[in-house]
Amino acid sequence: MAIATVDGIEVDDSWIKQLFGIGLTPEETQRAQEAATAYASACAQAEAEAQQAKARLAQHQAEARANRCKKCGGTGLLPQYAHRNNGSCYRCGGTGEAI
Ligand SMILES: [Zn+2]
Repeated sequence: MAIATVDGIEVDDSWIKQLFGIGLTPEETQRAQEAATAYASACAQAEAEAQQAKARLAQHQAEARANRCKKCGGTGLLPQYAHRNNGSCYRCGGTGEAI
């Protein structure tokens, strides 16, 4: 049964019960608590996965830095030698990777 209209949406008393936990039966209370627990668990898992992804990214970045040519910094180009071989790095042969 609609008891109010919010932004064109009819809100019935079951919404109010769910939103504010008012007048819930013990079964409804348990379901709401289980849903809240499951939601919190999913959030914690998502947060843990995000942390793992950040750690993997940091590791990849560190590896990429370690594998960069020290002469050109990984660009494969030396602008100061643009007049010779189009500025291709002579140390890494233009690959940008450490040798
Ligand atoms: Zn290089």
